Amino acid sequence: MQQSIAENITQIKAQLPEGVSLVAVSKYHPVQQLQEAYAAGQRIFGESHAQELVAKAPLMPDDVQWHFIGHLQRNKVRQIMPIVSLIHSVDSIRLLSTIDKEAARIGRSVDVLLQLHVAQEEAKSGFAVEELMQLAENGEFQPFKHVRYRGLMAMATFTTDTALIASEFARVASTYATLLEKQIFPGADFNQLSMGMSDDWHIAVEHGATLVRIGTQIFGPRQY
Ligand SMILES: *Cc1c(COP(=O)(O)O)cnc(C)c1O
Repeated sequence: MQQSIAENITQIKAQLPEGVSLVAVSKYHPVQQLQEAYAAGQRIFGESHAQELVAKAPLMPDDVQWHFIGHLQRNKVRQIMPIVSLIHSVDSIRLLSTIDKEAARIGRSVDVLLQLHVAQEEAKSGFAVEELMQLAENGEFQPFKHVRYRGLMAMATFTTDTALIASEFARVASTYATLLEKQIFPGADFNQLSMGMSDDWHIAVEHGATLVRIGTQIFGPRQY
């Protein structure tokens, strides 16, 4: 028999080292399934479409932390701003500028991760490693006072080649270490590394992930 959502969550959490948090990726899953996860103690949910997030959030308890993990269009930032606690997928200065403006507009600040592009697929978004370092050294991240930089996010290539996946996560981890060493984002808040999905989170954890984003292994296949 198939395991329940609660059993899946318990099983994953039992394998996560201390300090690693589980983001339950609930995109395309009905609210009833999110409620099952909530009842099992899950509080962090990851969504990747603004409209879906806006529709689901009012149907869930107030202590849910909503993470936005998908490609974010600038014209969707206003909709999600009152809801999100962490945006994983910041991939341009233009998007940051919009996020900053919309956060200021409603008098809040918002936590973000900068997404790195390390996978081989062109379709995936994110800053190239060299691009991010260059922007950082030029001070391009500094003007945004309503944004709190919390760390990096990345996706590995979709492949069964675990050595390739490991090398990509290692690259993210070393970029993160360099940013810390150079104190590019000073303060204790820059402390999150979001990497790892259903098929590769074990590898991500070995490379220092602090947030794993797991959908299928919790909820089963998505109903598109
Ligand atoms: C959908 C998605 C996930 C979850 O993928 P699963 O393979 O279902 O665990 C994680 N991260 C991002 C950015 C996603 O879009």
